[in-house]
Parts: sequence; structure tokens; C-alpha cells
Amino acid sequence: MSSTATEVLVVGGGQAGIAMSEHLGNHGVPHIVVERDRVAERWRTSRWDSLVANGPAWHDRFPNLEFRCDPDAFPTKDEVAAYLTEYAEKIDAPIRSGVEVTSVTKNPGEPGFRAVTSEGTIDARYVVAATGPFQKPVIPPVVPGSAPVHQIHSDAYRNARQLPEGGVLVIGAGSSGVQIADELRRSGREVHLAVGPHDRPPRSYRGRDFVWWLGVLNKWEAATPPQGAEHVTIAVSGAHGGHTVDFRDLAEDGITLVGSAETYEDGKIRFAPDLGQNIAQGDANYLSLLREADAYVERNGLELPGEPEAHRLRPDPECVTNPLPGLDLAEAGVASIVWATGFTQDYSWLKVDAFDEKGRPRHRRGISSEPGVFFLGLPWQSRRGSSFIWGVWHDAGFLADHIMIRRSYRAYEPAGAPATA
Ligand SMILES: Cc1cc2nc3c(=O)[nH]c(=O)nc-3n(C[C@H](O)[C@H](O)[C@H](O)COP(=O)(O)OP(=O)(O)OC[C@H]3O[C@@H](n4cnc5c(N)ncnc54)[C@H](O)[C@@H]3O)c2cc1C
Repeated sequence: MSSTATEVLVVGGGQAGIAMSEHLGNHGVPHIVVERDRVAERWRTSRWDSLVANGPAWHDRFPNLEFRCDPDAFPTKDEVAAYLTEYAEKIDAPIRSGVEVTSVTKNPGEPGFRAVTSEGTIDARYVVAATGPFQKPVIPPVVPGSAPVHQIHSDAYRNARQLPEGGVLVIGAGSSGVQIADELRRSGREVHLAVGPHDRPPRSYRGRDFVWWLGVLNKWEAATPPQGAEHVTIAVSGAHGGHTVDFRDLAEDGITLVGSAETYEDGKIRFAPDLGQNIAQGDANYLSLLREADAYVERNGLELPGEPEAHRLRPDPECVTNPLPGLDLAEAGVASIVWATGFTQDYSWLKVDAFDEKGRPRHRRGISSEPGVFFLGLPWQSRRGSSFIWGVWHDAGFLADHIMIRRSYRAYEPAGAPATA
């Protein structure tokens, strides 16, 4: 067991921790990054086998290093892990891997914090919690664990072979849900997909990927919705070279679309009557982006090839116009449920005054209500892009600047006054 002191303790060695280390290093601020597993562990072991990045390599990266693959390709999860590992080495990030922080508390009567770790204590003036936007899988309490159906969260999904023989109900139609449903269908499974509210931007339009459109249209900068406001998931995919998620295609491939899963009783699951509305809202979101893109092309006199056919949507499939109100799981041969229903965070180790009554981080752009404690990598921390690889880098820069400002106040001594800490 060791006892160390540093100025900034960064907890978490994923992309957020690495970005923070780069900015602190550039300012010459002494710091340590503590990671309980390995650098970029979640990209190594918490993603399904076939996962590729949702954004192309030229975009989903830090500014100072390019991926080794084709810039327009979608890197595999292993390529992302290798990229982040290479980045950490390139900036010589002071990362201690295999060390878990079990608690952080304020030092009574003196500045700073004490972290208790699996390998001793670390005293630090500032603490940055960079433990991830997606830490704990959320499964809504709809189907009891004792129900005679195999249930897993998308976090634990690896491939079709892992699931028992039989049909699968995938619940949640964000990027994870649609990709997993598609993969299961391609493997020959009978698949039902419960579709909730979603946005579904075109994968590409007029020769440019949607990440470019969201950039030039300032949509990555979209303001953080107020606390508690409904978060609308984005259904995009880089799988198979990247294609627009259109639920009509999934239905054509044999996936039965159903509404949000609402209740369960005696082996029967009931769906909300919201499927048509959710599909229509997703379509409206898709079409409005095309229109905004067209206006941008016109406004700037760009010579991008027109794509009028992208505006023409096919009629809704039968499963949408005449949706199933419910499903007897055994009768329909559904042996598994995959819950692609998102994540929450767990900061039980961070014992400071930085949380609201529901345990959510209380912060503004990552600066928490506990002076000296910061969050990094939260969804919508400062903008839509905050939890993505490229976005977290900019939030880390903001926090490092803020730490420099705090340092300058600390360094100030009125002429002739006795020195303070
Ligand atoms: C399925 C999926 C696909 C995604 N695809 C993309 C994509 O294509 N492009 C993109 O930009 N973003 C993508 N994201 C979003 C985001 O980039 C990832 O979630 C990313 O892993 C977040 O990085 P992070 O560093 O903030 O957190 P994490 O990667 O979660 O890293 C946090 C680290 O903290 C460590 N840790 C946690 N608690 C402790 C503790 N107490 N002590 C020490 N260490 C601790 C963990 O082991 C972990 O390594 C995806 C997310 C998911 C879930």
C-alpha cells in the first residue's frame, strides 16, 4: 500500500481520462490518472464483438492523432481501443492501470481530497471524475427476472451464438438496439424490435456523412436539455460500411417492429400504441435534417450532388400500420430479450457535495457544486457532442483551463501578507 500526493487526480482511463491528461500535461499540471482495469477498457470488453464506431475515423477521434485506417471507414471497437492506447502512450499519460478508487473524501480542515484506492491513498487538490457516461446498464422493471425468458442488457450482448436457440425481442431502438436486432436477423433469428422515440439522421446525404452535417449545421453544439428533460436516442449505424437506419428496411428484412414494451403478465408482454407515432417522429427528424442540409448548400453555394430520392419515404410496413398490441412470448417462440435501454452512472465512491437529491451530478459544464471536484464525459456535459470521442477532448480543455484559473487565485498573495496554503 502506497501513499502519494499529486495536484489533480483523474479517475478513469478511458477517452475522457486521456483527454484530461493531455490538457493538464500541456499546462504543466502534475496529475495522475487511475484506471481500475486497462486503458480504454470499455472499448475492449464492454462492446459486442462486431461493433464499429458510429462515426467515421476522420471524425470520431482526438485532434492530434489520426486513425491508421481509411479516414472514411468506421473503426472496429478494437481499433478504437488501440487508438486510445496509442494516444495515451504518445502523450506519455501518467496512468496507473489496475488501480480502483474506492472512495474520495474531503480533507477535513485543509484543502484537497483523499482518495482511497486498491493500492493505497492518493491526496490531491483537485479530482476529475472521468468514469464514463455509460456505467451501469438500465433495465426498466417490466419483465421480472424470474420470467421464463432469457434476459440480458445490450452491455452484455456479444453475438447471436451467445443467446439460447429461438426468437429474440430487442427492446430499444437507439444505435445499439437497431444494430443488435439487425445482426440477430442476419444470423437467422426471428426478431421483434420494440421501437421507442428516436432521431434517425441520414447516414450520408449529398455525399457527406451525417457527422459532417451535424457539424456544419451546428447541431453537435446543441444546448444541453434541462435536467430531467426527455433524452431522445439517435439511431445511427456504421455497420456494413454505414447505412441510414430506416425501420422500413428492417421490416423488409423480416424484423417485426412493435411499440414500446409496457407491461408483462403471465408470459405475455404488452406494447404501447406508440409505434406509428415513433416512426413518424423519426421520419420527421430525418426529413428536417435533409431540408436544413439543402438550405445550407444553397446558402453557401456548395456544389454537392442533389439527392431528391432521399426525400421520398416508402409506405409504412404492415407491422407499423397494424401493430401487434402484445405478444405471448412462448407462443411466438421468443426465447430471449435484449434490453437496449441505456445506462446510468454510479458515483457511490465520490463522497462529496456534488449531487442533487436524485444522485445526479450537480454541475455546470463539468464544474461541480463541490469546489475542486469536476466531472468529465457526461452525456450532454456541455453540448450534444460531450460523450463522444471528439467532444470530450474539448470539454477536457475547458476543465483544464478552469483548473488553471483556480490555481492563479491560489497563487495570489497580497503584498506583505503572511503566506496561505
Ligand atoms: C455501444 C456504444 C457505442 C459507442 N460508440 C461510439 C462511437 O462510435 N463514437 C463515439 O465517439 N462514442 C461512442 N460511444 C460513446 C463513448 O465514446 C463511449 O461510451 C466511451 O467509452 C466513453 O468514454 P469515457 O472515457 O468517458 O468513459 P469510459 O470509456 O466508460 O471510461 C471510464 C473508465 O473509468 C474506469 N473506472 C470506473 N470507475 C472507476 C474507479 N472507481 N476507479 C478507477 N477507474 C474507474 C472504467 O474502468 C473505465 O475504463 C459509444 C458508447 C456505447 C455504449
